[in-house]
Amino acid sequence: MPETHAPDGWEAVIGMEVHAQLATRSKMFCGCSADYLAAPPNSSVCEVCLGLPGALPVANRRAVELVVTTGLALGCEIARHTKFDRKNYFYPDLPKGYQISQYDMPMCVGGRLEVGGRTVRITRVHLEEDTGKLVHAGDALQTAAGSLVDLNRSGVPLMEIVTEPDLRGADEARDYATSLRAILRAIGASEADMEKGQLRAEANVSVRRRGAAELGVKTELKNINSFRALHRAVEHEIRRQVEVLESGGDVVQETRGWSEAEQRTFSQRSKELAQDYRYFPEPDLPALELAPAWVDELRRSLPELPPARRARLVERYGVTGYDAGQLTQEPATADLFEATVAAGAPAKAAANWIIGTQPGLDAARLAELIGLVVSGTINRDQGLLVLEEAGASGRSPADVVRERGLSQESDEAALAVIVERVMAESPQAVADVRAGKLKAIGPLVGRVVAASGGRANPKVASELLRKRLLV
Ligand SMILES: [Zn+2]
Repeated sequence: MPETHAPDGWEAVIGMEVHAQLATRSKMFCGCSADYLAAPPNSSVCEVCLGLPGALPVANRRAVELVVTTGLALGCEIARHTKFDRKNYFYPDLPKGYQISQYDMPMCVGGRLEVGGRTVRITRVHLEEDTGKLVHAGDALQTAAGSLVDLNRSGVPLMEIVTEPDLRGADEARDYATSLRAILRAIGASEADMEKGQLRAEANVSVRRRGAAELGVKTELKNINSFRALHRAVEHEIRRQVEVLESGGDVVQETRGWSEAEQRTFSQRSKELAQDYRYFPEPDLPALELAPAWVDELRRSLPELPPARRARLVERYGVTGYDAGQLTQEPATADLFEATVAAGAPAKAAANWIIGTQPGLDAARLAELIGLVVSGTINRDQGLLVLEEAGASGRSPADVVRERGLSQESDEAALAVIVERVMAESPQAVADVRAGKLKAIGPLVGRVVAASGGRANPKVASELLRKRLLV
């Protein structure tokens, strides 16, 4: 894999910390709903997640199961003994004054994830609780001056997945995050929607002279809420650090935010050290013993994981690696693809329609639609129309084509008339094509299709135009 985006003579070194909200119904240590976005502010709370005195936490078994399953999917070693710890700090969104997390005995250690040609080592996967949410002036929910706190998110189960500094550029950082998301979705551990905050990626970025063995001083990038922002933030930070070092300065170890508006990273605060948090074992929860038989059972229940499925789609259906990667981002998408091919659609066409249109049809109907386009009964634009109408009405694509009287005009004599008219009306485009600007054929084809009421076979129209203009 090429090492992208580090200026000449420099190498970027990146480690990732990803927080994923686990797909549980209730919170980590109480029975409150974990669907914190749906409820009015401060309505999905109880004495445990509000941190009231005397309230005692009880660990959510399903959350533990999802973390162990994730560890298994990433090839981690699963701890036999594990425990929770208190991470102490003050912040207004943390009513207890500490977060229950895991410090020295995480549930999973030592895994790996292949990203492109690179093996990214997974340091650890651990379980913790989320904090509440501060709503600042200017945010949608803000009504009064100052800041408000919503504790619906307080105590929602979070999994943290930490890598070694094995990534070497912005592309790889983004690809790691998308590969991880595909795995979390395939095993049902998290819905992992970055824009909803269910997946939060932080990148630890440093740079060093190419060939140097020692690591440079790193900064930690936060506030990233899309894969695109992750890519841009890392790219920007690599350039910024190289500029600082080349002008004789020092990179300061700190946390930096990403400003989407300004497309740059900015200093937020100096980095805390682990000792600042005064971690100690959580006295209100027992240490956990993860029975090997239970872990084996979870291992046996793992589904086919995206990397394996991607390879199988390429091998069995002959689709490109890129298409296979797109199809395996969501298990339901890959399922639809395989079922559509099984229903008779050519694999390449099925991949194109599914990746390009996110169709709202089942496999049998999608295969029927693709068949109508591949056989030339209707053209692609008509196919898109039929897709939409069949999806909305529940009628079959063939019925929609019949009822709307759709068909593609492929007859050369009929199309030649339209081609002549379009040429007469478009002297500039015609002159451009004759002068060798072949790109101008595209708009002419578009005009022929439009003049035919959307029925012209674009392939035949293009051939006719070429015959007329390029002799
Ligand atoms: Zn609660």
